[in-house]
Amino acid sequence: MGKKISLKKGSREDMSELVNVAAIFGEDVFNDTVMQERLPKKVYKELKKAIGEGKELDPSTADVIAHEMKEWAIEKGATHYTHWFQPLTGVTAEKHDSFISAPLSSGKVLMSFSGKELIKGEPDASSFPSGGLRATFEARGYTAWDCTSPAFVRHDAAGATLCIPTAFCSYTGEALDQKTPLLRSMEAVNTQALRLIRLFGNTTSKKVTPSVGPEQEYFLVDAEKFQQRKDLIYTGRTLFGAMPPKGQELDDHYFGTIRQRIAGFMKDVNEQLWKVGVTAKTQHNEVAPAQHELAPIYAEANVAVDHNHIVMQTLKRVACQHGMKCLLHEKPFAGVNGSGKHNNWSLTTDDGKNLLDPGKTPHENIQFLLVLTCILKAVDEHADLLRESAADPGNDHRLGANEAPPAIISIFLGEQLEDVLEQLVNTGEATHSLKGGKLETGVRTLPELAKDATDRNRTSPFAFTGNKFEFRMVGSRDSIAGPNVVLNTIVAEAFAEACDAIEGAEDFQKAVHDQIKKYAVEHQKIVFNGNGYSDEWIEEAKRRGLPNIKSMVEAIPALTTEKSVEMFEKFKVFTKAELESRAEIKFENYAKAINIEARTMIDMASKQFIPAVIKYTKELADTVVAVKAAGADTDVQSDLLKEVSALLGKTKQALTQLIQVTDQAASMEEGEAQARYYHFDVVPAMEALRAPVDELEMIVDKEAWPMPSYGDLIFEV
Ligand code: ADP
Ligand code: MG
Repeated sequence: MGKKISLKKGSREDMSELVNVAAIFGEDVFNDTVMQERLPKKVYKELKKAIGEGKELDPSTADVIAHEMKEWAIEKGATHYTHWFQPLTGVTAEKHDSFISAPLSSGKVLMSFSGKELIKGEPDASSFPSGGLRATFEARGYTAWDCTSPAFVRHDAAGATLCIPTAFCSYTGEALDQKTPLLRSMEAVNTQALRLIRLFGNTTSKKVTPSVGPEQEYFLVDAEKFQQRKDLIYTGRTLFGAMPPKGQELDDHYFGTIRQRIAGFMKDVNEQLWKVGVTAKTQHNEVAPAQHELAPIYAEANVAVDHNHIVMQTLKRVACQHGMKCLLHEKPFAGVNGSGKHNNWSLTTDDGKNLLDPGKTPHENIQFLLVLTCILKAVDEHADLLRESAADPGNDHRLGANEAPPAIISIFLGEQLEDVLEQLVNTGEATHSLKGGKLETGVRTLPELAKDATDRNRTSPFAFTGNKFEFRMVGSRDSIAGPNVVLNTIVAEAFAEACDAIEGAEDFQKAVHDQIKKYAVEHQKIVFNGNGYSDEWIEEAKRRGLPNIKSMVEAIPALTTEKSVEMFEKFKVFTKAELESRAEIKFENYAKAINIEARTMIDMASKQFIPAVIKYTKELADTVVAVKAAGADTDVQSDLLKEVSALLGKTKQALTQLIQVTDQAASMEEGEAQARYYHFDVVPAMEALRAPVDELEMIVDKEAWPMPSYGDLIFEV
């Protein structure tokens, strides 16, 4: 397995080794094929049952699986195993244990790995955010194997490590991670979606799972230049930087030819991803210079979330191997586009039916229209939660800034579906579809829908794209777990309500029809097909009463509203305490992120920019004296000296102000008020410091400037 096809001598030198994708795909994954090959039939069956139906594994079965997994991993060179989990820090965490057991009397060691070690881990949880759920003295936290996401062996500088995807909970069972609520929400939407399709006569599908395909955007910069920027090192984004003469205005980077250095990087990324079973599919240059995108083929939500973490880690690791740094921050550079993550979402049955597929017959259409209008209702009623799920400090720079969708949640349906919806609202029934769909008449008949009868709309935060919804607000660095927890749960709630209304109705057709109409009428206001970047839309959205939540600190309270608590508790996704702890953690995370940015700016301004500019003014002053002594005109030098000195003064003043507000913020008690202070007082002070420094960069000798410029960073990768 995994044999590479090497090129014969005499082949083109600039070509790298060719790869047989089919041969290497999944070679480092403990997948179904491996399980079937290695596990005794009975054990394999038990495990499949556990995976498919969420059945618990008995200890002896777990022991057999653990043993085989270990043997397999050791054959791949693994020395350690790790319970790989997703705490609320936003990144993944792991603690490595080697397979060795206590030395034998012979002085040799055996390699061991028990079922207990596979199923449960107990990392000291005291240093992970828990938002008050767990007192520090009760540091116990447990990681539990998520057998629905396959284990894999990761190869890196540490050698090879068996990674076991796990959920992370407190001693009392509260979720301390991203995965646990995601699994719970998948369960919720499964139950309600099954109820719904049963009503339409589907008796064969056993399971409905959310399918998710996240498109990952990122930047690549040269590692040496990166190392010269404290802001990139500490915060992942530039906090200063004047625009180069050229930005992205020519649109020449988007889908442009991929340069060789980047192509070599992408090749290695793909290869490493394929080996661990990630279906890396699409790659291209993005809008901003140095910006790129990678999209896998969609997968079940929890696998997609795990894979997205693997993608982010792989991008970072391989970038280093290529002398580059991968920036996953939402806004690494002001003035050019930032990065996001389009979260494509649909619902698929175990026998391959997509509930978001409009279908070909009116019978399918009617189920589709019910699903669709349920989603309208879900998104309309919980727009604040959806918005919150995309909130992170970096995304505050994007949402509503003419490059990402606005901070207002709306749904794009496309002309055809919007027309159907309008007919439903206006006349109570829809009798035809636009663009050649067959005209159906009759009281209860719904129109046949043609797929892709409409254009795309890139400005919408939540767009229907043929057979899935694309949630476009998510930040590039963020976990996609949060958005999918919200999507799954709000849709489960809408399905449940619709089923309550329809189940037991005397006239099924009429009941469905009435429900569709009701939702269409009540929630049509969330549908918007126009330009989401325009100012008119902001006004119009206000008239419609849609929330426009501009920042992370203003979004977080959505988590703990009565409406949110009621829903999440009803579907057993979060308890009130878990929601409160999450809100608390988010406020803290925000405050910490901004505090680090502010301190980094203070550091850079005090130790790099101001000293560099002082030196430069001295040089200018010396020049003025020397030139004057030589009897020549010094107007230019003097003017420049004045201009630079004035900006230097402004810089010092803004620095003093930033130090003052940052100290003030840091002295406050952690929580909402502190986070708001960081947002409303510290962030503007940061901007006020940046402005004169960026102006200085435009007029100070490049040789005197203490770090690489935007031009150096994004045009010279
Ligand atoms: P786009 O629609 O943005 O042009 P694609 O059609 O290639 O791009 O899809 C983007 C992402 O959406 C990919 O990750 C793809 O696998 C995923 N995707 C496609 N169909 C579905 C679906 N039914 N459910 C969820 N994701 C999907
Ligand atoms: Mg897309």
